[in-house]
Amino acid sequence: MTVETRRILIVEDEAQTRSVVEAYLEREGYWVTAVGDGERALQAFESHRYDGVVLDLNLPGLPGEEVCRRIRDVSDVPIIMLTAKGAEEERIAGLDLGADDYLVKPFSPRELVARLRDECVVLTACPLSNARLKAVERPEAHPLPQLLEAGLRVTLNSDDPA
Ligand code: CA
Repeated sequence: MTVETRRILIVEDEAQTRSVVEAYLEREGYWVTAVGDGERALQAFESHRYDGVVLDLNLPGLPGEEVCRRIRDVSDVPIIMLTAKGAEEERIAGLDLGADDYLVKPFSPRELVARLRDECVVLTACPLSNARLKAVERPEAHPLPQLLEAGLRVTLNSDDPA
């Protein structure tokens, strides 16, 4: 079913959250690297190619915002932030730094997987909606021209005229 194994970097200092997310993503077929601080996150990011990053903002040492900024300096990889409940300023700061999406703790791992899948497809294929995701996951069931047409239409619609 899966087109290819996607590599995800998880950056989370809370061991329990980290291992739950890691286990969940691995069960979904992702290849996962899980680290507990920003320094190790950047080291990991330099040594492997990743298809997505799950980034807790509230980290010891190097703050998540800084990790986000440094990753954005070199990559357009989808970044999903994990933020504390009610920390609206954190979220705004993270989105301003180029994060693609965020989840407020406590979050559902299933929702994280869904968001991640969405973001990864948006980056690696073309801006497809959830409704078209199935077509990408099973390309053999859909002729290429149809996929291209779907992608093209969405791309044009999402073009920012500014
Ligand atoms: Ca944390």
